[in-house]
Amino acid sequence: MNHFEYKDGVLHAEGVDLNRLAAEVGTPFYCYSTATLERHYKVFSGSFPKGTLVAFSVKALGNIAVLKTLAKLGAGADVVSGGELRKALKAGIPGGRIVFSGVGKTKAEMTLALEAGIYQFNVESEPELQALSAVATALGKPAPITIRVNPDVDAKTHAKITTGTAETKFGIPWSRARAAYALAAKLPGIKVVGVDVHIGSQIVDLEPFETAFAKVAGLAAQLRADGHVIERLDLGGGLGVPYITNNEPPPDPSAYGAMASRVTRDLGCQIILEPGRLIAANAGILVSRVLYVKQGEARTFAILDAGMNDLIRPAMYDSHHEIVPVNEPKPDCPRRRYDVVGPVCETSDIFAAERELPELAEGELVAILSAGAYGAVMSSAYNARPPAPEVLVKDEQWSVVRPRLDDDALFGSERIPDWL
Ligand SMILES: *Cc1c(COP(=O)(O)O)cnc(C)c1O
Repeated sequence: MNHFEYKDGVLHAEGVDLNRLAAEVGTPFYCYSTATLERHYKVFSGSFPKGTLVAFSVKALGNIAVLKTLAKLGAGADVVSGGELRKALKAGIPGGRIVFSGVGKTKAEMTLALEAGIYQFNVESEPELQALSAVATALGKPAPITIRVNPDVDAKTHAKITTGTAETKFGIPWSRARAAYALAAKLPGIKVVGVDVHIGSQIVDLEPFETAFAKVAGLAAQLRADGHVIERLDLGGGLGVPYITNNEPPPDPSAYGAMASRVTRDLGCQIILEPGRLIAANAGILVSRVLYVKQGEARTFAILDAGMNDLIRPAMYDSHHEIVPVNEPKPDCPRRRYDVVGPVCETSDIFAAERELPELAEGELVAILSAGAYGAVMSSAYNARPPAPEVLVKDEQWSVVRPRLDDDALFGSERIPDWL
C-alpha cells in the first residue's frame, strides 16, 4: 500500500502532481511519501507486542527528514556507523532508542555511541568485545551488549544480501556463541543484555525467519541457564516487500509479528526489530525524464537522465523495479519493449531489460517505483554526476530535503597539489 497514484491522468505523490514537482525541482529526483512511511511504520510496529523497540535501519534510507518523520512516531534507529549515529541523533531519535550493528565498529565510533548512551551494541566478534570493553572501561560507562549470532540459516534471498549462513562475515559462529558470552561476562566494560540475529534482506518467506528465531530462543534459554542476563531479543530486519506489483505478496507484517511473538513468548524478553526496506522501499520513487529513444540493432533503448549512480540496485542485485509513465497512458496506447538505461558509461547502467511498457516519447517523465530503500543512500557521484536530490511530500506540501549538488559541493573539495 502506498500513496503514489494517478489522479486526473497524472501520477501524484499524495496531493502533489509529479509533473509540477519535476518542473520545480528538475530531474532526476527521489520523492518520498510521508503518509506511506507512517503507514508502513504503524502497520509494522502494531504487529508486535507493546514494549517492542522498532529501530528503523538507517542504512536503508538515511535522510534526516525521513528519520525525523519516523522519530515522531516513536521509532528508534539501527545504525551501522558513527555517521548514521550522528544523523539519527540529529533527527531527534534519543540515544536510548538506538542500537549499533556492524562488523567493523571503530573505537572512535564506540566512544561516540557510549557518550550518546545508546540502547545496545550488537557485537559481531570476540575481538570487538575486547575492544568495546577497553573503550567502555576507559570512559567508565559499561557497554550494554547483545551478541549477534550467526544461526547458519539460508534466508533464500539474493546472495549479496544473505547474512546468516556460515560463509558470511556476519555474527559469531553458532558453535562459539556460548563461549563468546562467557568471555563477555568476564570483561569489565561489558554488560550482557540479550541476543541478536539478522539473517538477511528481502526475505519473502517466513520459514527461514522462524527457523532462525527458534534457534535463537533456544540459545537464549541456554544462556540464561549459563547465568547470563538475557532480557532482549533483537531479531533484525529483513522482511521483504513486493517489487513486482502483480506478484504474490510477501508475508504480511501481522503474520510475521504473530510468528515472532509465538516463537519467543516463553522467554518474556523485549523484542527489538530493525526493519529498513519494509518501511522505506515502497515509500519512495525515482522520477526521471526520457532523454532519447534510441533504436539499436537488437533492442530499443529508452535513455533516462537517471543512472546507476542514482539507483544501483538493478546493477548490483539484479533487482526489478516497476517503471510507470508519470502521465497516465491512454488505454489504447501501444506497448513496446525497451531496455530502460541511464547515461552512465557502463553496460550495467540498466534499470530494466526488454521491459514491455506503454510507448515512451522523448521528454516524457517516468517513475521508477519501490526505490525508497537502498536508493538514495547508495547513490554516488560516479561520472561526476550529482546524485539525484531528495524530496519529501506530505499531503499537498513538499520540500527538497537534499538538494542537487552544485559544482562546488560536487568537486569543490578536490585539491591540486602545490607541486603540480
Ligand atoms: C541491513 C540491515 C537491516 C535492515 O534490513 P532490511 O532488509 O532493510 O529490513 C537490519 N539489521 C541489520 C543488522 C542490517 O544489516
